[in-house]
Amino acid sequence: MILAITSLGKEPSSLQLSGNPSDFVEFADSGISTPIRLNLDVTPLSGDSHLVQGRAVGALAAECGRCVEPITLPFSVHFNLLLDRQDPVGVEWVDDDHQGVEDYQAHLGPDVTEIPLQSIIAEQLVLNYNLHPLPDLDAAGRCVQCGRTPIAVAEPKKKDEGVDPRWAKLEGLKGSSGLEGSKE
Ligand SMILES: [Zn+2]
Repeated sequence: MILAITSLGKEPSSLQLSGNPSDFVEFADSGISTPIRLNLDVTPLSGDSHLVQGRAVGALAAECGRCVEPITLPFSVHFNLLLDRQDPVGVEWVDDDHQGVEDYQAHLGPDVTEIPLQSIIAEQLVLNYNLHPLPDLDAAGRCVQCGRTPIAVAEPKKKDEGVDPRWAKLEGLKGSSGLEGSKE
């Protein structure tokens, strides 16, 4: 996900880049589980500046926060990157109070030949996607993501705990001897 400065021309252009989650540590850390496709629309502005509008699509390895099931979460994030030139060498990233969370600005020195975009994509993923989403339930009480009913998950949990006071009360109604020592 490297933008070559030589691809910033005098005419508007579109670029397509692709990458794998293993290419950059930022991608693996973001939970990306599929190849990433990045589309860039480059618009030349006055003064050798360029506006780069990017949209990255792929999928995340997430987990349903309701069913604790692994799920694949498709993503689509976009960003705007304003690039202009500076005399000092290197890249200077600029933070402007007026820019939105999807907006980035960088000044490029004469030595700069490429701009890495993976950190921007990773940041947008963190801002827009939860790796433990809590999906809604449909009218039948099933998780809209996994199609499971919460009861199917809750039952084994109660058995494991074995201390739910509601079970003790039910046993008491049946006259179980297991309630010796109960205040009743
Ligand atoms: Zn679910």
